[in-house]
Amino acid sequence: MNIILLGPPGAGKGTQASRLEADRGMVQLSTGDMLRAAVKAGSPVGLQAKAVMEAGELVSDAIVSALIGERLDAGAGSGAIFDGYPRTAAQAEALDLLLAERGQTLDHVIELEVDEDALVERIVGRFTCANCGEGYHDRFKRPAVEGTCDVCGHHEFKRRPDDNEATVRTRMTEYRAKTAPIIPIYEGRGLLRRVDGMADIRHVTESIEAILGPA
Ligand code: ADP
Ligand code: ADP
Ligand code: ZN
Repeated sequence: MNIILLGPPGAGKGTQASRLEADRGMVQLSTGDMLRAAVKAGSPVGLQAKAVMEAGELVSDAIVSALIGERLDAGAGSGAIFDGYPRTAAQAEALDLLLAERGQTLDHVIELEVDEDALVERIVGRFTCANCGEGYHDRFKRPAVEGTCDVCGHHEFKRRPDDNEATVRTRMTEYRAKTAPIIPIYEGRGLLRRVDGMADIRHVTESIEAILGPA
C-alpha cells in the first residue's frame, strides 16, 4: 500500500508518518528529511538546496523526484508513506511514472485539514530529538520527562533553521500556489481522503488508520 500525506507546513504529516511506520511497518519517504540530510552532508544536491530551503521556497522538481526514485529502489517495506512529496503538479506526474515503472500504484491521498492560524504556532514550537529525530512540540507534545527524549533517552534537541515565522509565511504561500492545486487532481481520480488535522495527535492517527483498514 502506498499513500501520500498532504497538507501545509505543520499539518502533522511527519508526526503521523512516523506513527504509521511504527504501527504498520510502512516506510516514511520525506523529501524534507532527505534534503536536510543532503545539506548536512554537503553533497551537490545539498549545496543546491540549502538557500532555497532557508528561504522557504521549493527545491526543483527534478531534484526531489530523483531522490524519491532512489528511495523507492531501495525498497519500501509494506508500503511507502510519501510525506511532503509531491508538492507540485509536475511532481505528482513524476510520482505516477516512478510508481508505474515499478509496477506499483497509489492507494490513498490523505489530506490533513488544518486552520491556517494554528500552523504558525505549530511550526515555531516544533523541535526534534538530535539523536533519533523524534518530533516534539513546546506546547502540544512535550517529552514525558523534561529534557529527555521519550524514544531514545537522549538529552539534546534541535530546531530547524526554516521554522521561523517569516519563512513559514513563504512556505504557506508556496503551498497555496503550487501544492493545493494538486488536490483536485487526486480528488478527480477518487483517491482523496480528508482528515481533520486539528484533532489531537492520537485521534488524527485513528482517522488515518480507519481509512487504511486493518494492518
Ligand atoms: P509537518 O510534517 O506537516 O510539517 P509535523 O508533523 O512536524 O508537521 O508537526 C508540526 C508540529 O506540530 C510538531 O511540533 C508536532 O509535534 C505538532 N503536531 C503535529 N500534529 C499535531 C496535532 N494534531 N495537534 C497538535 N500539535 C501537533
Ligand atoms: P514542512 O514542515 O513544510 O512540511 P518539509 O520538511 O517537508 O517541511 O520541507 C522543508 C523544505 O524542503 C521546504 O520548504 C522546501 O524548501 C524543501 N522541500 C521538501 N520537499 C520538497 C518537495 N517535494 N519539493 C520541493 N521542495 C521541497
Ligand atoms: Zn530520541
